[in-house]
Amino acid sequence: MIADLVFRGALVVDGSGREPHRGDVAIDGGRIVAVAPSLGRIDAGRTVDAASLALMPGIIDSHTHFDAQITWDPTLAPSPALGVTTAVIGNCGFTIAPCRAADRERTMQNLTQVEGMSLAALRAGIDWRFETFPEYLAQLRARGAAVNVAAYVGHSSVRTWVMGAEAATRAATDVEIGRMQDVVRDAMAHGAVGFATSTSPAHNGEGGLPMPSRLASDAELAALVDAMAEGGRGVFMLTKGGQTSMAFLESLAAASARPVMVAALLHNSVAPRAVFDDLDAIAAANARGRRMLGQVSCCPLTMDFTLASPYPVEGLKSWQPALSLSGERLKRKLADKPFRDGVRAELATPTTFRLFNNEWDKVQVVEVAQPEKHAALEQKSIAEIAAVQGSDPLDTMLDLAIAEDLKTVFTAQLLNSDEDAVGRMLNHPQSIVSLSDAGAHLTFFNDAGFGLHLLGHWARDRGTMSMSEAVRRLTSHPTEVLGIADRGMLREGFAADLLLFDPATVGRGPKRRVCDLPGGAARLTTDAIGAHGVWVNGRQVADATGLIANVPLVGNLLTQFN
Ligand SMILES: [Zn+2]
Repeated sequence: MIADLVFRGALVVDGSGREPHRGDVAIDGGRIVAVAPSLGRIDAGRTVDAASLALMPGIIDSHTHFDAQITWDPTLAPSPALGVTTAVIGNCGFTIAPCRAADRERTMQNLTQVEGMSLAALRAGIDWRFETFPEYLAQLRARGAAVNVAAYVGHSSVRTWVMGAEAATRAATDVEIGRMQDVVRDAMAHGAVGFATSTSPAHNGEGGLPMPSRLASDAELAALVDAMAEGGRGVFMLTKGGQTSMAFLESLAAASARPVMVAALLHNSVAPRAVFDDLDAIAAANARGRRMLGQVSCCPLTMDFTLASPYPVEGLKSWQPALSLSGERLKRKLADKPFRDGVRAELATPTTFRLFNNEWDKVQVVEVAQPEKHAALEQKSIAEIAAVQGSDPLDTMLDLAIAEDLKTVFTAQLLNSDEDAVGRMLNHPQSIVSLSDAGAHLTFFNDAGFGLHLLGHWARDRGTMSMSEAVRRLTSHPTEVLGIADRGMLREGFAADLLLFDPATVGRGPKRRVCDLPGGAARLTTDAIGAHGVWVNGRQVADATGLIANVPLVGNLLTQFN
């Protein structure tokens, strides 16, 4: 036998969920050519002694926002170094294609607001050589990427393409809905993995206007899911607002006979039953023969923020008057007593989903802008500071921020911090481990290493699931849902997308701040722990130290789905 590369004596965790076994894996021409307890003599280009390591299929990240970054950074850093070999872009429908030249600035402003991307980086970075969705895919295919990529066609982009600026202000006419259906059909015909949207009130665009998809009626959503499903393919993905009912989503799953993926199911300790009610509704729909899944996260949702761009509270209705403001006008609004009273009143009202839930012990001062005056406040929670000062916590945070010209950096532990609850969500039969949001919210958090965290923290350290089940959840489960053939398992004939790791140490490193975006903007990044190598289509893209130099752009643009 001839092979490019043979792994000898690895603990083979093959992605199917079955017990790991010791064995050899040979790859050749980008494919796995043999998996066996012992392969005997092989004429191999390279042999890796993997006796103390485990080999698994590469991680599928089904919820990323690399749509913009991929046009200036085809390595999709930092994901490949964190074991990800396939990334799905276009989630929530926040994409950059289709987009007419006249709508580019609006689209970038929207992404800045909704996904916390630096406007300067987007302006300096996005390579706008496309307008339509097929032109965008052609550009990605020509440029290449370090990992395999699948793309949703995104509702907000489709709506803006058809309605221009009015996409964010009004309902669509029947004629406009018909034109949107044509765009979705065309995108599906050219290889979109599905159709994605958001009805979440947390999703606001330029100037605090809702993201365009939020203006869609149920009839518009139904028509577009219908257009997606015409070819008998496609996944419908949405980030669900409270006003969108599971019953309506089940009706779309029934009418389209296609999988419906519901995000973002994050545990909220103020309404601890809410996500389980959603998962129960999803389970009941499956029992009635629909295919529905809930996207869950294995990471606590923790965000760093300043009051100049306070994502955790921007979804509050009472915050809307501040959304379009900046500089002195924003500071005046934040100082305004009626504004603060409105925010306090809203935070005191129970609700099922809200990013920030009045838990001031979970908001901390990370970095003050005036250390000579405020250094003692660093690493203290707002609850502690307010107690010492005898002040209201919201006043405490806003007064400090205003005194420091809105430059104080805070961190908030928002959701998913109750580990017993999160463990049950991760093991739910209809959940899908997802929600890294890689490529977005770059100054707020970075969960691109979610897969390594599932393996290390949840499988090894907590024993919430077996290592083989954790691997299945990161590999063959998402490929099966998304209809990606020949990936996600270590099987003869499958693509050689591989992660070699040390099960005793695997995990994700702490987040750290780097300033390497176009124009020098900052982002948070994270390093792998215990990852020894990552291969995409048989070529190595990362080693134990991270992305390899001149990383080969060997990922495929995936356009064929079951
Ligand atoms: Zn998203």
